[in-house]
Amino acid sequence: MAKILTITNQKGGVGKTTTCVNLSASLAATKRRVLMIDMDPQGNATMGSGVDKHTLELSVYDVLTGGCSAEEAIIAKTPAGYDLIGANADLTAAEVELLQLPRREFRLKMALQSCADKYDFILIDNPPSLNLLTVNALASSDGVIIPMQCEYYALEGISALIGTVEKINSRLNPSLKIEGILRTMFDPRMSLTKDVSEHLMEYFGDKVYRTVIPRNVRLAEAPSHGLPALMYDKNSRGAVAYLALAGELTRRQRKQQEEQELQDA
Ligand code: ATP
Ligand code: MG
Repeated sequence: MAKILTITNQKGGVGKTTTCVNLSASLAATKRRVLMIDMDPQGNATMGSGVDKHTLELSVYDVLTGGCSAEEAIIAKTPAGYDLIGANADLTAAEVELLQLPRREFRLKMALQSCADKYDFILIDNPPSLNLLTVNALASSDGVIIPMQCEYYALEGISALIGTVEKINSRLNPSLKIEGILRTMFDPRMSLTKDVSEHLMEYFGDKVYRTVIPRNVRLAEAPSHGLPALMYDKNSRGAVAYLALAGELTRRQRKQQEEQELQDA
């Protein structure tokens, strides 16, 4: 069964999409079978994977509203090396339409049941808001990855987000956990970066990934070529950092599995 991870933070521009695209590509490059799902009507993750959001025949909108199955909407082997269910502006309408549908919080979860065993990882990119789309992503997932910039207001938003994850955990999805906190656009020269970083470590302990994503222009340029940084410039600091993150994530997962097996024995 795939490990399903939601990349979320209701704050805009913190590196959610960059993380989703580059982590998916890094996991795919290490021979993991990866499905990425774009749950943002902006469609940035779709475009950044080399798929034109304007010409999608089927998208996550159709999956959520029952127009097609997940398998039918999957675009196999994108130029970025993973499979994709894309999104575009159609998805804006889904929020309203979902309100009328049965089990509206579980539409994505139900759709993924039939294809989850074909993948090692399913990564879900989210819009910078907390709405029924995000609730669908959280209700489907095993874990949440929270990318954040080490700046003053970042901490303020994060407690609201943690509250939401806890609420989803108690009401809709008891297996949901915070998988990790990822420091993005990291600039060690700034003293505030250090302060915020220390606060994060205090609060979240080893949930904070040791890997940090540096500010790197290649990460910002790559999407305009429809490629993850790993394919645009594989030696760039950004690409190397996301490969390291994929390594840390899979090591952690192996450790969790071993601990679980010990408990079960
Ligand atoms: P939104 O909330 O709008 O969905 P987001 O959280 O998905 O935004 P991104 O789109 O990934 O954020 O990043 C915001 C901008 O910052 C983009 O232009 C992206 O290319 C750039 N960016 C992201 N990470 C980095 C980085 N580590 N170094 C340099 N630029 C970055
Ligand atoms: Mg985004």
